[in-house]
Amino acid sequence: MKDSIAALRGLEKQLYAYQYALSVMEFDEATAAPADSADGRAAAAEVLSRARFDLLINDDTAALLALAAEEAEDGQQAAEVRELQRQYDEICNIPAEEYAAFASLTQQAIPAWAKAKRSNDFAAFAPYLEKIVAARRRQAACIDPNRNPYEVWLDRYERGLTIARCDEFFATLRKTIVPLLAEIQKRGCPVRTDFLEQDWPMDAQRALSANIMELWGLDAAHVVLSESEHPFTSGFWRGDVRITTHYMPRDMVSNLYSVAHEGGHALYDAGSDPALDFTVLSGGSTMGLHESQSRLFENYVGRSAAFLRYLWPTLTDLFPAQLAGVTFEEFYRAVNRAEPGLIRTEADELTYALHVMVRYELEKALIQGTLTVAELPAAWNAKYKEYLGVEVPDDTHGVLQDIHWACGDMGYFPSYALGSAYAAQAMDDLRTTLDVDAQLAAGDLRPLKNALSDRLWKYGQSREPQWLVQSLCGGAFDAAHYTGYLTRKYTELYEL
Ligand SMILES: [Zn+2]
Repeated sequence: MKDSIAALRGLEKQLYAYQYALSVMEFDEATAAPADSADGRAAAAEVLSRARFDLLINDDTAALLALAAEEAEDGQQAAEVRELQRQYDEICNIPAEEYAAFASLTQQAIPAWAKAKRSNDFAAFAPYLEKIVAARRRQAACIDPNRNPYEVWLDRYERGLTIARCDEFFATLRKTIVPLLAEIQKRGCPVRTDFLEQDWPMDAQRALSANIMELWGLDAAHVVLSESEHPFTSGFWRGDVRITTHYMPRDMVSNLYSVAHEGGHALYDAGSDPALDFTVLSGGSTMGLHESQSRLFENYVGRSAAFLRYLWPTLTDLFPAQLAGVTFEEFYRAVNRAEPGLIRTEADELTYALHVMVRYELEKALIQGTLTVAELPAAWNAKYKEYLGVEVPDDTHGVLQDIHWACGDMGYFPSYALGSAYAAQAMDDLRTTLDVDAQLAAGDLRPLKNALSDRLWKYGQSREPQWLVQSLCGGAFDAAHYTGYLTRKYTELYEL
């Protein structure tokens, strides 16, 4: 190995170490830390973040990257240089003061948003959001002054994504989902849901989590489940991935699908080739690809009739009293019902993309300057009425429901819908060689996992996202697989 590559590896390992420490602190904050411990953690995080920044952004690193680019001897080394250079450029394009001011702005905006949401007071959050939008416009101009500012951010979360492609994607979804939903509502086909809300014993809910983790093949020596307010996944490295869930005493389904979803993220994070350990290439690629795996395990496996039929005896064993008068068919229909609602995180598979589409259209307009923050709540409510047919009663259940914009994440939402669409296409393609339904009906996820590992997991970030999407999907991305899946599934479910 050339000296420059050895030096690069040393740098990557140091960056990894800082990131590891910061991730453990974040995970600890969400799962175990006492309530009033934030100040000390923030002080420590600031030191570690600064050290990480200084390690990456300096003239020595710039020179090392240039030399290593010439001396890379194989695909992995070249990819390490490329990925690190991308991180370097992304930070370097934005002036250091702007970077620090933005971090401080979002630190203030997040608690302001939480308070505004609690008290249904959009006006209290609006000044922060105005500053965030202005900062994101300024920063986009620093990164690429010749490009549409919103597209700069789209590209950051899902590399290679353009506004034109995103517009086309959502137009396709809208054309399928809106009429399908109207048909379902016209049909008025009643789905029995009365049994969903009742007391579900906590020990049985925990046993169900363990069962799903075992079925997913999440090795307890490397993946552990904790509890937090909002479920999430944190991959420290391939050999230590943490997932969380939130138990609700009156709702068993919520935990079931949180574990199924986060378990999908964990499989992806834990599935990188060991050769990528402690380099910038380890772990999952873009947000859209990550969501493709979590949604694949949550919906395409976890909500499928084949898998649920396999799980049904376990469910009735764990919850004999709760499921006493419920048939499998009723349970299957209840967890797959389509119902327009107000809250994205509680949305079903069919209406979910419409929630994302509302956010996509509004954040695009904000960043492009065609919508003001003051106009945002009314625009939000109008789109919910138009796409989902629901009246938004207040901003708490409307424009204030998500944390993303307070964190400065604008251009992030489309990835959620794209992930579902990647997964639909991957499943269609996998079915040409695997008898997926028979395997799920037998509770055997190994063939599916092996195929996903071959197509996606093992590569980590060693290939460009667009290449990985094609590899996962078995061809060029085409949203028709997703709309086809939704049409088939809901036509059958509601006998349309
Ligand atoms: Zn997720």
